[in-house]
Amino acid sequence: MSSKRIVVIGGGPAGMQAALSLAAGGLKPVIVERAGELGGKLKEWHRLFPSMTEANEVLTRLTGEIAEAGVEVMLHTEVEGIALGEGGAHDGAPNGVVLAEGKKLPAGAVIVASGFDIFDARQKEEYGYHVYDNVFTTVDIERMLNGDKVALSDGTAPRRIAFVHCVGSRDEKVNQRHCSKVCCITAVKQAMELRERFPEAEIYSFYMDIRMFGPGYEELYQQAQQESHINFIRGRVSEASPTIDGRIQIKAEDTLVGRPLKMSVDMVVLAVGMKAAAGNEKLAASCDGLSLAPSGFLAPRDMFTGCVSSGAAGVFYAGTATAPKTIGECIAEGAMAAQRAAEYLKSGAKR
Ligand SMILES: Cc1cc2nc3c(=O)[nH]c(=O)nc-3n(C[C@H](O)[C@H](O)[C@H](O)COP(=O)(O)OP(=O)(O)OC[C@H]3O[C@@H](n4cnc5c(N)ncnc54)[C@H](O)[C@@H]3O)c2cc1C
Ligand code: SF4
Repeated sequence: MSSKRIVVIGGGPAGMQAALSLAAGGLKPVIVERAGELGGKLKEWHRLFPSMTEANEVLTRLTGEIAEAGVEVMLHTEVEGIALGEGGAHDGAPNGVVLAEGKKLPAGAVIVASGFDIFDARQKEEYGYHVYDNVFTTVDIERMLNGDKVALSDGTAPRRIAFVHCVGSRDEKVNQRHCSKVCCITAVKQAMELRERFPEAEIYSFYMDIRMFGPGYEELYQQAQQESHINFIRGRVSEASPTIDGRIQIKAEDTLVGRPLKMSVDMVVLAVGMKAAAGNEKLAASCDGLSLAPSGFLAPRDMFTGCVSSGAAGVFYAGTATAPKTIGECIAEGAMAAQRAAEYLKSGAKR
């Protein structure tokens, strides 16, 4: 059984799809998930860009299929490393994963779908997250939208809102040089959602560049400007500080007109980036052939034909463990990693 079993580390969108594709191919996936339920970050989101589909609809579809396919799921279980075989023809090759207290879960192949971490906005002290009232992150806004309670800390409606892009991305000061790819479109989507809730509010979005790389994204950005009347200002916000009347003053430079700018707002929303998962280092150290990119994400064998392959035979990657990606991209990679893992088990040699 164990030689046909494939361990999928992580039950987010990438891991769930990998397991579904393996099960459809007659293999025995087991999802090992450290949280108490499946879903990864998807379970925290409200509506998904670019189509505004309810996140719960996608989550329910995936978890429903997992249940229907009878996929084995181990919740509240953390993978601590890749297990290496000893003796025999494949001495030293990965043959499962290591759980708490050194317990081994044997498998013929492993798919790493352990995802990403959210950048902790408190590291950007100049924005006063968790220090001043009414400074939120895009993650907080998703939660507020889910709870149907978007308001200032005193329960009133904001009259002026400022989104700040690239918080914890493209920023050497916090050692996060990469672009997180999804935060421009998330900020645009949320600005439009806040417009629906607060038709009278002024809404600003401070950006370095607007990166709208996906299908329908540019159209959403146009719609945000023309129909939702979101004001996009090219400039980096250097500081947020409280005012005497309980508002927040932000300082920025409008880099298009080359002038410094000060503005008082009621609500600041920090578009936080996708950071490499803290567990990547330990995972990579547990197995020869696994390595990290300078960003801290796991490095795939190459960016083209080997994008779901690691440098170790029998270990595959799916989703944001290797880089920021959208849910659709993670699901596509989940299916692809499953196919490669199945081929590996069949041939016993390919990666
Ligand atoms: C604010 C925000 C909004 C977003 N909105 C959208 C959107 O509208 N549309 C869209 O397409 N994308 C969106 N994204 C991106 C989306 O969240 C990701 O593409 C997606 O969650 C990545 O899926 P994943 O499976 O790779 O990782 P994750 O969702 O991070 O799931 C990884 C899972 O692995 C588990 N895990 C990690 N390590 C271990 C371990 N060692 N052992 C066991 N389990 C482990 C975790 O607990 C988690 O459940 C958004 C991102 C952000 C930050
Ligand atoms: S997607 Fe946009 S907000 Fe996010 S890091 Fe890239 S440029 Fe900055």
